[in-house]
Amino acid sequence: MNIILLGPPGAGKGTQARILVEQRGMVQLSTGDMLREARTSGTEMGKRVAEVMDKGHLVTDEIVIGLIRERLESGDATGGYIFDGFPRTLRQADALGKLLSEIGQDIEHVIEMQVDDEVLVARVSGRSTCASCGEVYHDVTKPIPADGKCTVCGGTTFTRRADDNAESLKTRLMAYYKQTSPLVGYYYYAHKLRMVDGLAEISEVSGQIAGFLDGPTKL
Ligand code: ADP
Repeated sequence: MNIILLGPPGAGKGTQARILVEQRGMVQLSTGDMLREARTSGTEMGKRVAEVMDKGHLVTDEIVIGLIRERLESGDATGGYIFDGFPRTLRQADALGKLLSEIGQDIEHVIEMQVDDEVLVARVSGRSTCASCGEVYHDVTKPIPADGKCTVCGGTTFTRRADDNAESLKTRLMAYYKQTSPLVGYYYYAHKLRMVDGLAEISEVSGQIAGFLDGPTKL
Protein backbone atom coordinates (compact mmCIF):
# COMPACT_ATOMS: atom_id res chain seq x y z
CA MET A 1 0.00 0.00 0.00
CA ASN A 2 1.32 3.43 -0.99
CA ILE A 3 0.17 6.68 0.57
CA ILE A 4 0.75 10.41 0.22
CA LEU A 5 0.94 12.77 3.18
CA LEU A 6 -0.30 16.16 2.04
CA GLY A 7 -0.18 19.35 4.07
CA PRO A 8 1.55 22.69 4.56
CA PRO A 9 5.02 22.98 6.10
CA GLY A 10 4.82 22.14 9.79
CA ALA A 11 1.62 20.10 9.48
CA GLY A 12 3.35 17.05 10.96
CA LYS A 13 3.95 14.96 7.85
CA GLY A 14 7.45 13.94 8.87
CA THR A 15 6.36 13.00 12.39
CA GLN A 16 3.56 10.78 11.11
CA ALA A 17 5.80 9.27 8.44
CA ARG A 18 8.30 8.23 11.12
CA ILE A 19 5.53 6.50 13.09
CA LEU A 20 4.33 4.62 10.01
CA VAL A 21 7.87 3.51 9.19
CA GLU A 22 8.29 2.16 12.70
CA GLN A 23 4.87 0.55 13.05
CA ARG A 24 4.29 -0.79 9.57
CA GLY A 25 7.70 -1.11 7.95
CA MET A 26 6.74 1.34 5.24
CA VAL A 27 9.45 3.28 3.38
CA GLN A 28 9.42 7.08 3.70
CA LEU A 29 10.28 9.00 0.55
CA SER A 30 10.74 12.65 1.54
CA THR A 31 11.84 14.87 -1.32
CA GLY A 32 12.76 17.53 1.27
CA ASP A 33 15.22 15.11 2.91
CA MET A 34 16.58 14.02 -0.48
CA LEU A 35 17.12 17.63 -1.51
CA ARG A 36 18.80 18.46 1.81
CA GLU A 37 21.15 15.56 1.10
CA ALA A 38 21.76 16.81 -2.45
CA ARG A 39 22.68 20.28 -1.22
CA THR A 40 25.45 18.94 1.00
CA SER A 41 26.98 17.13 -1.98
CA GLY A 42 28.72 20.33 -3.12
CA THR A 43 27.71 19.81 -6.76
CA GLU A 44 26.47 22.63 -8.99
CA MET A 45 22.96 21.18 -8.77
CA GLY A 46 23.25 21.04 -4.97
CA LYS A 47 24.16 24.73 -4.82
CA ARG A 48 21.24 25.75 -7.01
CA VAL A 49 18.87 23.64 -4.91
CA ALA A 50 20.13 25.21 -1.67
CA GLU A 51 19.42 28.73 -2.89
CA VAL A 52 15.88 27.89 -3.97
CA MET A 53 15.09 25.94 -0.78
CA ASP A 54 16.39 28.61 1.60
CA LYS A 55 14.11 31.20 0.01
CA GLY A 56 11.16 28.83 0.38
CA HIS A 57 10.43 28.34 -3.33
CA LEU A 58 9.80 25.00 -5.00
CA VAL A 59 12.64 23.20 -6.72
CA THR A 60 11.89 22.34 -10.38
CA ASP A 61 9.58 19.43 -11.15
CA GLU A 62 12.35 17.78 -13.24
CA ILE A 63 14.71 17.54 -10.30
CA VAL A 64 12.26 16.10 -7.78
CA ILE A 65 10.58 13.74 -10.26
CA GLY A 66 14.07 12.49 -11.15
CA LEU A 67 14.86 11.84 -7.48
CA ILE A 68 11.63 9.89 -6.96
CA ARG A 69 12.10 7.95 -10.20
CA GLU A 70 15.57 6.83 -9.06
CA ARG A 71 14.23 5.63 -5.73
CA LEU A 72 11.27 3.78 -7.23
CA GLU A 73 13.50 2.07 -9.76
CA SER A 74 16.08 0.97 -7.23
CA GLY A 75 13.91 -0.04 -4.29
CA ASP A 76 11.39 -2.71 -3.57
CA ALA A 77 9.32 -1.58 -0.62
CA THR A 78 7.12 -4.50 0.31
CA GLY A 79 5.63 -2.46 3.16
CA GLY A 80 4.70 0.31 0.72
CA TYR A 81 5.85 3.88 0.26
CA ILE A 82 4.92 7.01 2.17
CA PHE A 83 5.34 10.01 -0.10
CA ASP A 84 6.13 12.96 2.18
CA GLY A 85 6.38 16.38 0.56
CA PHE A 86 5.85 14.88 -2.90
CA PRO A 87 3.94 15.46 -5.11
CA ARG A 88 3.75 19.23 -4.64
CA THR A 89 2.44 20.26 -8.07
CA LEU A 90 -0.11 18.81 -10.49
CA ARG A 91 2.72 17.87 -12.83
CA GLN A 92 4.44 15.94 -10.08
CA ALA A 93 1.16 14.19 -9.26
CA ASP A 94 0.71 13.09 -12.88
CA ALA A 95 4.33 11.92 -13.02
CA LEU A 96 3.95 9.92 -9.82
CA GLY A 97 0.83 8.17 -11.11
CA LYS A 98 2.72 7.24 -14.25
CA LEU A 99 5.85 6.02 -12.45
CA LEU A 100 3.79 3.85 -10.12
CA SER A 101 1.71 2.36 -12.90
CA GLU A 102 4.94 1.38 -14.67
CA ILE A 103 5.78 -0.85 -11.71
CA GLY A 104 2.20 -2.12 -11.40
CA GLN A 105 1.37 -0.02 -8.35
CA ASP A 106 -0.93 2.81 -7.32
CA ILE A 107 -1.62 5.30 -4.54
CA GLU A 108 -4.25 3.99 -2.16
CA HIS A 109 -4.70 6.90 0.26
CA VAL A 110 -3.90 10.61 0.20
CA ILE A 111 -4.02 12.02 3.70
CA GLU A 112 -4.48 15.76 3.97
CA MET A 113 -3.28 17.14 7.31
CA GLN A 114 -5.18 20.32 8.12
CA VAL A 115 -3.60 22.95 10.38
CA ASP A 116 -4.16 26.69 10.94
CA ASP A 117 -1.50 29.05 9.59
CA GLU A 118 -0.75 30.60 13.02
CA VAL A 119 0.01 27.18 14.43
CA LEU A 120 2.32 26.40 11.52
CA VAL A 121 4.33 29.56 12.14
CA ALA A 122 4.70 28.69 15.84
CA ARG A 123 5.64 25.07 15.12
CA VAL A 124 8.18 25.78 12.42
CA SER A 125 9.92 28.69 14.11
CA GLY A 126 11.15 26.77 17.17
CA ARG A 127 11.95 23.53 15.49
CA SER A 128 15.21 21.62 15.72
CA THR A 129 16.17 18.08 14.82
CA CYS A 130 18.56 15.51 16.24
CA ALA A 131 21.36 15.19 13.69
CA SER A 132 21.76 11.45 14.33
CA CYS A 133 18.22 10.04 14.40
CA GLY A 134 15.99 12.83 13.08
CA GLU A 135 13.85 13.16 16.22
CA VAL A 136 12.14 16.57 16.13
CA TYR A 137 12.20 18.98 19.09
CA HIS A 138 10.56 22.34 19.71
CA ASP A 139 11.84 25.18 21.92
CA VAL A 140 8.48 25.60 23.65
CA THR A 141 6.46 22.40 23.26
CA LYS A 142 9.21 19.76 23.34
CA PRO A 143 12.54 21.25 24.40
CA ILE A 144 15.84 19.41 24.05
CA PRO A 145 16.46 17.75 27.46
CA ALA A 146 18.56 19.72 29.96
CA ASP A 147 21.42 17.19 29.68
CA GLY A 148 21.61 18.02 25.95
CA LYS A 149 21.00 14.42 24.89
CA CYS A 150 18.37 13.22 22.44
CA THR A 151 15.76 11.11 24.26
CA VAL A 152 15.66 8.60 21.42
CA CYS A 153 19.31 7.99 20.53
CA GLY A 154 21.39 9.97 23.01
CA GLY A 155 22.82 12.13 20.20
CA THR A 156 24.15 15.52 21.24
CA THR A 157 24.04 17.47 17.97
CA PHE A 158 20.88 19.27 16.95
CA THR A 159 20.30 21.21 13.76
CA ARG A 160 17.91 23.92 12.67
CA ARG A 161 16.82 24.09 9.05
CA ALA A 162 17.98 27.16 7.16
CA ASP A 163 14.45 27.61 5.80
CA ASP A 164 12.71 27.46 9.20
CA ASN A 165 12.47 31.24 9.56
CA ALA A 166 9.50 33.60 9.28
CA GLU A 167 10.42 35.02 5.85
CA SER A 168 10.97 31.66 4.17
CA LEU A 169 7.91 30.17 5.85
CA LYS A 170 5.72 32.89 4.31
CA THR A 171 6.97 31.92 0.85
CA ARG A 172 6.58 28.20 1.61
CA LEU A 173 2.99 28.71 2.74
CA MET A 174 2.21 30.71 -0.38
CA ALA A 175 3.78 27.98 -2.52
CA TYR A 176 1.61 25.45 -0.72
CA TYR A 177 -1.65 27.30 -1.32
CA LYS A 178 -0.84 28.26 -4.92
CA GLN A 179 0.91 25.16 -6.22
CA THR A 180 0.17 22.23 -3.92
CA SER A 181 -3.37 22.74 -2.61
CA PRO A 182 -4.91 22.01 -6.08
CA LEU A 183 -3.87 18.42 -5.35
CA VAL A 184 -6.65 18.27 -2.77
CA GLY A 185 -9.21 18.50 -5.57
CA TYR A 186 -7.18 16.23 -7.81
CA TYR A 187 -7.18 13.37 -5.29
CA TYR A 188 -10.71 14.05 -4.06
CA TYR A 189 -11.87 13.45 -7.61
CA ALA A 190 -9.93 10.17 -7.62
CA HIS A 191 -11.73 9.13 -4.35
CA LYS A 192 -8.41 8.93 -2.54
CA LEU A 193 -8.55 11.96 -0.28
CA ARG A 194 -8.89 11.53 3.50
CA MET A 195 -8.63 14.42 5.92
CA VAL A 196 -7.16 14.51 9.41
CA ASP A 197 -7.10 17.25 12.02
CA GLY A 198 -3.41 18.09 12.23
CA LEU A 199 -4.06 20.12 15.40
CA ALA A 200 -4.91 17.00 17.39
CA GLU A 201 -2.35 15.14 19.54
CA ILE A 202 0.30 13.20 17.62
CA SER A 203 -1.13 9.85 18.80
CA GLU A 204 -4.66 10.92 17.90
CA VAL A 205 -3.54 11.85 14.37
CA SER A 206 -1.66 8.57 13.92
CA GLY A 207 -4.75 6.69 15.17
CA GLN A 208 -6.88 8.40 12.55
CA ILE A 209 -4.34 7.59 9.84
CA ALA A 210 -4.20 3.94 10.96
CA GLY A 211 -7.99 3.84 10.64
CA PHE A 212 -7.73 4.92 7.00
CA LEU A 213 -4.96 2.47 6.18
CA ASP A 214 -6.87 -0.43 7.70
CA GLY A 215 -10.16 0.62 6.11
CA PRO A 216 -11.45 0.37 2.54
CA THR A 217 -9.13 1.76 -0.15
CA LYS A 218 -11.81 3.38 -2.28
CA LEU A 219 -14.52 5.56 -0.75
P1 ADP B 1 8.28 21.55 4.51
O1 ADP B 1 7.13 20.64 4.23
O2 ADP B 1 8.46 21.79 5.98
O3 ADP B 1 8.28 22.84 3.72
P2 ADP B 1 10.22 19.82 3.13
O4 ADP B 1 11.35 19.23 3.86
O5 ADP B 1 9.19 18.89 2.57
O6 ADP B 1 9.63 20.86 4.15
O7 ADP B 1 10.76 20.71 1.90
C1 ADP B 1 11.71 21.71 2.06
C2 ADP B 1 11.95 22.45 0.74
O8 ADP B 1 12.43 21.53 -0.25
C3 ADP B 1 10.72 23.08 0.09
O9 ADP B 1 10.43 24.36 0.60
C4 ADP B 1 11.17 23.12 -1.40
O10 ADP B 1 12.08 24.15 -1.63
C5 ADP B 1 11.92 21.82 -1.56
N1 ADP B 1 11.04 20.69 -1.97
C6 ADP B 1 10.77 19.56 -1.25
N2 ADP B 1 9.95 18.73 -1.93
C7 ADP B 1 9.69 19.34 -3.12
C8 ADP B 1 8.89 19.01 -4.26
N3 ADP B 1 8.19 17.87 -4.30
N4 ADP B 1 8.87 19.88 -5.29
C9 ADP B 1 9.57 21.02 -5.27
N5 ADP B 1 10.33 21.40 -4.23
C10 ADP B 1 10.40 20.59 -3.16
